[in-house]
Amino acid sequence: MPSRLCSTCEKARAVLRRPKTGELVCRECFYYIFEEEVHQTIINSRLFKKGEKVAIGASGGKDSTVLAHVIKTLNDRYSYGLDLFLLSIDEGITGYRDDSLETVKRNKVQYSLPLKVLGYDELYGWTMDEIVKQVGTRNNCTFCGVFRRQALDRGAAALEVDHIITGHNADDMAETVLMNILRGDIARLERCTEICTQGPEQPAEEDQGCGDAQANDLGGTGIKRSKPFKYAYEKEIVMYAHYKKLDYFSTECIYHPNAYRAYAREYLRELELIRPSAVIDIIHSGEALCVGQQVKRVKQMSCKRCGYMSSNELCKACLLLEGLNRGTPSLGIHSGKSKIAREARANDSGPNDESNIGRTIPKFSRKNADVTSSTSSNPTANAQPQIAISAE
Ligand code: SF4
Ligand SMILES: [Zn+2]
Ligand SMILES: [Zn+2]
Repeated sequence: MPSRLCSTCEKARAVLRRPKTGELVCRECFYYIFEEEVHQTIINSRLFKKGEKVAIGASGGKDSTVLAHVIKTLNDRYSYGLDLFLLSIDEGITGYRDDSLETVKRNKVQYSLPLKVLGYDELYGWTMDEIVKQVGTRNNCTFCGVFRRQALDRGAAALEVDHIITGHNADDMAETVLMNILRGDIARLERCTEICTQGPEQPAEEDQGCGDAQANDLGGTGIKRSKPFKYAYEKEIVMYAHYKKLDYFSTECIYHPNAYRAYAREYLRELELIRPSAVIDIIHSGEALCVGQQVKRVKQMSCKRCGYMSSNELCKACLLLEGLNRGTPSLGIHSGKSKIAREARANDSGPNDESNIGRTIPKFSRKNADVTSSTSSNPTANAQPQIAISAE
């Protein structure tokens, strides 16, 4: 970096070139500009209401750690009046999530924010380590993505929070636009650039990976999902975390990330070499798209078994869990139209169900702090524990 003055304050020495704009800036100006751009995104989209309870989806990774730091900073600087929480999901991945949760626990102290952790084992009766033992490493991310999305909503419901914010950034969003175009998924394309979503739609199979489930997640319970980093470049998030010396966890999951998204990411990197504004351009293209009425939208209903929002009679998590419990993990992975999936739905229709489907997911409830058990629609289910979310 040549010894040049910061293009913003014109006093301090520039120490970095912003990937988003190419400007040479000093450290303090970079922090301020980055935070102010997030603030502008929040203001322009009227993201928060004063006094709102907001859960920050915290994984310990760079995106959610920077998100927690910046939202707390802006909440204090501009008196948003938000009641902030950290909400973490413990998938039960030894050597990965256990370590990253230690980072979140330190963030809790560093940012003085309450932390709640909800584990797959207490919610579904299975850890990801156990799931991988049964299903292998081919479709494991489908289980993990579907289970995480529901777990976040259930954690938010238990906290009596109406709004979850996640650290998805501009690069994630541009990748999602590309993926939806490449597979011709026009219905998802319509909404995948929205900053705040609230609806029943499931992400596509290929999106159900690490973090990806949320990248194309259109909500599911009336609990809002927002992405304040929608316009923040991943490289700038990394720079912010690096220069601020934030405490984050950078190791990848041991159960390999989603391949389809990796191709879209690689393609985007190559596009950026030719056209540096490609990320923002793609997001703007997605925002400007208007999808015709003839495109079929997903209808909204509640899962007969667990009460969670679903586009079918049984939600994907219930199908996947039943598959695990029956020892037929392919149930629910691909098409919901398969014979075995149809049988699973039929089995849930009343007291004639003779099959032992094992433990089911507790009934979804937003009113109570505790998520209560479901017994009414599924008389043969094993006893289901109340979900007590551990406060760290
Ligand atoms: S890569 Fe992500 S989605 Fe896949 S198993 Fe690991 S944490 Fe879960
Ligand atoms: Zn400066
Ligand atoms: Zn369900």
